Amino acid sequence: MKVVYDEKYTTVYSSDPAAASGRMESIYSVLYGRYEFVRPRSASEADLKLAHWKDHVDYVKRNKALYQVAKLAVGGAIKAAELAVQGEPAFGLIRPPGHHASKNSSWGFCFFNNIAISIERLRHEGKIKKAFIIDIDLHFGDGTANIFVNTPDVSYFHPEASNREEYLKEISRGLATKKEYDIVAVSAGFDRHEQDWGGMLKTEDYFTIGKMIKQFAEKVCEGRRFAVLEGGYNHAVLGRNVNSLLEGTT
Ligand SMILES: [Zn+2]
Repeated sequence: MKVVYDEKYTTVYSSDPAAASGRMESIYSVLYGRYEFVRPRSASEADLKLAHWKDHVDYVKRNKALYQVAKLAVGGAIKAAELAVQGEPAFGLIRPPGHHASKNSSWGFCFFNNIAISIERLRHEGKIKKAFIIDIDLHFGDGTANIFVNTPDVSYFHPEASNREEYLKEISRGLATKKEYDIVAVSAGFDRHEQDWGGMLKTEDYFTIGKMIKQFAEKVCEGRRFAVLEGGYNHAVLGRNVNSLLEGTT
């Protein structure tokens, strides 16, 4: 398991909770020393246009500091996806998040759809054909769902059960698919934790979820899997929750 990270992700590029000071550091401090860290390269404008219209890219570009970090976040997702294709599970410790970014709009602290662009790039390069995206963030990733609405080769799954036991069962059922995929990607949000906005999952549940995802990937695509950070706002528990998912997925 490799962690893709760059200290530029600590830049406070806006006043939203995903961009809050100390958020990246709270995760980094738990993961550092446990995993090998690798640096991403910034995404190109051509990469951004794999999932977004020019108008949207130009809109984000107007804020220079934001554009730089948002492009680097996309690059982090691309790097994690490339590692996964090479057989190395990876986690993109990146921000801003991306799952609320559609082709020509974005909201919810998101600007570019990191996970969608990383999948589209692998598909574009012919490295994969079919992808399964599981989104464990509290919120529905409308951006990801919109981008792939007419793409039957990419499945998007957002479990929504409103209690802990049902949620874990729903994931188990959702991963029982007989379809074939070339890669499993995780939109890893942690805002469903009992001490975060969703008030539901325990830290060890992320381990359980990670384990289910690992077993699923081993069954359908020789273990090729990666995750990227989406939401999660309680800095006191965020690092432990991320580590729990990574331990399960490793
Ligand atoms: Zn969220």
